[in-house]
Amino acid sequence: MININKFVRKNIKKLIPYQSARRIGGVGKIWLNANESPFRNNKNLFCKNLNRYPDQEYHMLLDKYSRYANVLPENILATRGSDEAIELIIKAFCNPGKDKIMFFPPTYDMYKIYADILCIKISTVLQLKNFQLNINSIKKKYSSVKIIFICNPNNPTGNTILSQDIIDILEFFKKKCLVVIDEAYIDFCLQETSIMLLNRFSNLIILRTLSKAFGLASIRCGFLISNERIINIINKIIAPYPLGTPILNIALDALTKSNISVIKNNIFNLIENKNFLITKLKKHKFIKKIYPSKTNFILIKFFSSKDVFNLLSQFGIITRDQNFKIFLKNCIRISIGTYEECLNLVNILKKIEK
Ligand SMILES: *Cc1c(COP(=O)(O)O)cnc(C)c1O
Repeated sequence: MININKFVRKNIKKLIPYQSARRIGGVGKIWLNANESPFRNNKNLFCKNLNRYPDQEYHMLLDKYSRYANVLPENILATRGSDEAIELIIKAFCNPGKDKIMFFPPTYDMYKIYADILCIKISTVLQLKNFQLNINSIKKKYSSVKIIFICNPNNPTGNTILSQDIIDILEFFKKKCLVVIDEAYIDFCLQETSIMLLNRFSNLIILRTLSKAFGLASIRCGFLISNERIINIINKIIAPYPLGTPILNIALDALTKSNISVIKNNIFNLIENKNFLITKLKKHKFIKKIYPSKTNFILIKFFSSKDVFNLLSQFGIITRDQNFKIFLKNCIRISIGTYEECLNLVNILKKIEK
């Protein structure tokens, strides 16, 4: 038998893989742990020509998304989820064992995980207590850093990053680093996008996805948006035909005018549900703090996140415990579901008081 443990690269052997919601699992009927949309779309899409590699549809998709995002199609590349885009950027620009990426905990885990996989070093600057960027430390700590990842709005805290800070970072690192703004949740607050900064800063890359507001987490479709020179470099290393025709057709359908208005309505709905949830929960003594959120999830600090998490899961409601993350002791991240799901959550949490 081959000794596969000796065979594998050391860093992969040591690697703790991303604890995705599916990997963590759980049993229940209300899923509020992965920031997915609760609205199902029932379209049955028929695909022809599955014997051919996809071609036209890919370019049609870039065209359609470019109109949604207000950029040119030349500025976009579609990827297997924005997760793949994170990997491609690190792969294209960082030399293993030498270059670093920088990010700002508490934030999305995949920046670190891809860096670990690719043997890229890490430099972190903790966020300030209000979850904004510590600009002064960032400006001091950038040696060997090639790529800076800013998650805006940030996951798992739910806040947006001050736009003057984003501009400050882009300006300071203009000739020094690439700045990636991960806009996975931007559709919930589109006015906060950094898209219009693309013309001003040649070091800016923006990531988008259909997984959250568009309710298409299962098709794995994300977008990398930047200037043409950067797009061309990433295009050199992406797998041939990254997205299959069924995926492309579903994504194309998601970006029609009529579907975008459905999505806008869903977003409006989720924001109402979020406000309902916040109003209902605010009064309760077992909650220490509800953090302001611009997204489809809220971060809540309890007195004991473990007890709340267990109670909820007893009743079949799956949430995401953040207790182990820096600054997030006793915090749980809860995705906003349908009105009924929110009501259910409120009613179960009431039991704690008794
Ligand atoms: C969900 C998420 C992603 C990944 O999205 P996919 O497009 O499904 O790969 C990227 N960044 C953040 C911050 C996320 O929360």
